[in-house]
Amino acid sequence: MLYMETTVTPAPSLTKPVSLPLLFQQQRARAEALRREGWEARAMRLRKLSRWINDNRSAIQQALYADFRKPAAETDVSEIWSSQVEIKHTLRHLKQWMEPRVVGTPLSLMGTRSWVQHEPKGVCLIIAPWNYPFYLAIDPLASALAAGNACIIKPSEITPTVAALLARMCREIFDPTVVTVVEGDKDVATELLKLPFNHIFFTGSPQVGKIVMRAAAEHLASVTLELGGKSPVIVDDTADLRDAAEKIVWGKGINAGQTCVAPDYLLVQESVKEKLVEEIKEVVQRFYDPEGEGVAASKSYARIVNAHHFRRIAGLLEDAQAQGANILLGGTVDAGQRFIEPTLLEGAPSESRIMQEEIFGPLLPIVTFRTLLEAAAIVNSRLQPLALYVFTQNNEHQRYLLQNIPAGGSCVNETILHLAHPDLPFGGFGNSGLGKAHGFAGFVGFSNEKSVLKQRVGRTGIKTMYPPYTPKVKKM
Ligand code: NAD
Repeated sequence: MLYMETTVTPAPSLTKPVSLPLLFQQQRARAEALRREGWEARAMRLRKLSRWINDNRSAIQQALYADFRKPAAETDVSEIWSSQVEIKHTLRHLKQWMEPRVVGTPLSLMGTRSWVQHEPKGVCLIIAPWNYPFYLAIDPLASALAAGNACIIKPSEITPTVAALLARMCREIFDPTVVTVVEGDKDVATELLKLPFNHIFFTGSPQVGKIVMRAAAEHLASVTLELGGKSPVIVDDTADLRDAAEKIVWGKGINAGQTCVAPDYLLVQESVKEKLVEEIKEVVQRFYDPEGEGVAASKSYARIVNAHHFRRIAGLLEDAQAQGANILLGGTVDAGQRFIEPTLLEGAPSESRIMQEEIFGPLLPIVTFRTLLEAAAIVNSRLQPLALYVFTQNNEHQRYLLQNIPAGGSCVNETILHLAHPDLPFGGFGNSGLGKAHGFAGFVGFSNEKSVLKQRVGRTGIKTMYPPYTPKVKKM
């Protein structure tokens, strides 16, 4: 049966989904048809997605505001624009990505031709987190559709307004046998993970990433794991401190620090610490308190997503203070508003929770170092970070730090922006993730790279290897 994208059957109420195995079976049947589709059908879905986002900008802004008071300007940049960049980049390059990639022929296989062709994996599962709940569902969806898959999206239950909006979006523009949203919490995710998906794209914490990988192993499904961790920012004594302060405060302040690649802790060379702290204080005031009414009055600053995360972050701060940390800036928390001020602190012991766990909130502990060797050792004593930020004007220092600190990705004299470049594969390493997303890397992640060797009929380069084995073959 041919499925027509234009005759979209309304999806059933997905809060109480129909049988998940049935939904999966329907997608699996459809995936067979998707496999035979060409570029135009995939591009059409991507265009629909892009159009819907364009037409529903204010609904997206409202949903994000309802879930955690995310400022509309931040939603524009980090949810809408970032999604459109990915979709448009994919649309621009998809035809070329789908072309078989011809590879050269070694002498031993002379006469043959070989290429790699990308085929869809089949039915994919996308499990999304709450911190960029729209973008982190759309970004992998664009790659999944570009690669020709059917997929089920399980958004986070912690941002229910965005989850409902994603469900509505998919009902409006996709046939549910191609893309469906299944809303729900970890129990729903657990049920989904029992199904034999061909690929699972998970964004979330390393702890849950391990659960996902175990479940995937049951069916030998491939996985992309976009996880988190403690991303350090290192500022040496050659850095432009004003510039560094602006970029660090921006990278930490966006989404109130609830960003997987937010600078988690700050390593600063001892001799420039005081100056950097002064610069950071000035920037925080300029960004979030220009009228002097307090950051809580700022319309440019988000809230902590829920009471659980508020208690967790406030607990990290209390715990650090109890262990001797001093607050240099901020420190105000308000449970009623789930507000936590941008907070700079020093003196948190290395074994304190704030220096061991991913903070995922607007607290920035400072640690000083004397030599780059010492800075690298501090970072490398922890698990591999998702991002490494280096502020320096010395190319040798840059080279040393990039070479000696393993990390998923990195920026020099910038924070966060490496994830906005669609030609840079994005992802973690070790504890911060497995596999890469964005652009071609995302397309490849959702594709099977099928290797093909074509021989001429009646010819083979290895006829001499056929049995029965003779002394001549043995000699080879
Ligand atoms: P989380 O791991 O708690 O949840 C992510 C998703 O997994 C949600 O949809 C949730 O419903 C589901 N889930 C939760 N428990 C589960 C279980 N036991 N079994 C199956 N599914 C389960 O993560 P979060 O709190 O939503 O997001 C924060 C984490 O995500 C941070 O560690 C952050 O660094 C990371 N993150 C990483 C990236 C990246 O691109 N690398 C992006 C955003 C967030």
